[in-house]
Amino acid sequence: MCVKNRVLAVLFCLAAGVGSLMLPPTGRAAGDQLAPAAGQHLLTAVAPATTVSVVEGVLRNRTLYEVLTACHIPPAEILSLSRSFKPVFDFRSARPKDVYQVSVDNRHMIQKFVYKTSPLDEYEAIKNEKGGYSVHKRDIVLDRQQVAKVFTIETSLYEAVADSGEDQAIAGMIADIFAWDIDFYLYPRKGDRIAVVYERCYKDGVFVKYGKILAARYAGKHKTFSAFLFNDGRFDGYYDETGQPLKKLFLRTPMKFGKMTSGYSIRRFHPISKRYKAHTGIDYGAPRGTPIMATANGRVTFSGWKGGYGKLLMVKHANGYQTYYGHCSRLLKKRGQLVEQGQVIARVGSTGISTGPHVHYEVRVNGKPINPNKVKKSRGRPLSPELLAKFKPIVEERLAMVESLLEEKTSLVMLMQND
Ligand SMILES: [Zn+2]
Repeated sequence: MCVKNRVLAVLFCLAAGVGSLMLPPTGRAAGDQLAPAAGQHLLTAVAPATTVSVVEGVLRNRTLYEVLTACHIPPAEILSLSRSFKPVFDFRSARPKDVYQVSVDNRHMIQKFVYKTSPLDEYEAIKNEKGGYSVHKRDIVLDRQQVAKVFTIETSLYEAVADSGEDQAIAGMIADIFAWDIDFYLYPRKGDRIAVVYERCYKDGVFVKYGKILAARYAGKHKTFSAFLFNDGRFDGYYDETGQPLKKLFLRTPMKFGKMTSGYSIRRFHPISKRYKAHTGIDYGAPRGTPIMATANGRVTFSGWKGGYGKLLMVKHANGYQTYYGHCSRLLKKRGQLVEQGQVIARVGSTGISTGPHVHYEVRVNGKPINPNKVKKSRGRPLSPELLAKFKPIVEERLAMVESLLEEKTSLVMLMQND
């Protein structure tokens, strides 16, 4: 059986069926049931022990089917495995570096199958009573390490990050946090310094990704901005040291690169109905399939078909606000689900009354449409006094940390214990 592969472990399991051949209870103690009186019977009744071999390997340039047939696993068994896997992972997207681990019994049947596509993505299939497999994605436990660092901008934030030996990903995360106040993409500011406290995640001692940015302080020539991570009980968010959210209440647009094709108006000539009609939202043209983002935190109140809107998603926000995303090709969220600002909730399409792929974006206050441009500048809600009381002690400590980092004229790295 798969001699070329490394056999990791051999386990012995008692065959099933022993239980059903036990003597019926006769009122004696449980241990007596296996008494020698029935011995002869039991000896013939016990099936031979099942051997399970565990074989592990890298897919390389073979298909999983080839790998498993080499282990003498019957095609029907392989088919059943790949069918059970499909909702969780499709083997058509398998890659040569993927790692498999298969536990096979002496009847060449798969008892357990593990498939790893990255250090963070592991899938496990276990044979169930119906003869099929129960498949799930494994929860990966990562070791988190807190790091504090100062980045000094010479040409760009990306270069500052690369010079310090960190990955570009952290630059993107910093830029996103301060995106509302500083445009790092357009205006690199030479000499500006940013102190950041963040998490690095490891698996088996190997760095796999960045965790969260816990605190950041940007010290510019003219202005200083701070960002502290805090969960308000529902959402993670960044706040300045006084508890004001960094984010605006609404994103400017429901997509990253959408072109406004039709503005908000009380009266406009409708190209399809050929009549003057109010346009109660803003249209953004984009190719079919472009991700549509929720412009604010909230809860989905409608997800489905609604007349001229076609496939429509409606989200309810704080303070009586509601947003509509119409003409979608796909709706990715269901009614009742919580959505975060910037989260992808649907894809651009041309369903309903529509002349081409675009999203019809509408903002309503207490049910009445308003011009979405009017809410673009409103700040999110500051923390309530109760939340502020929780926020203050966390922030005082982190503020002291980033300030002391900035006072040092070198890019000091501190490693902190994780709890
Ligand atoms: Zn429209």
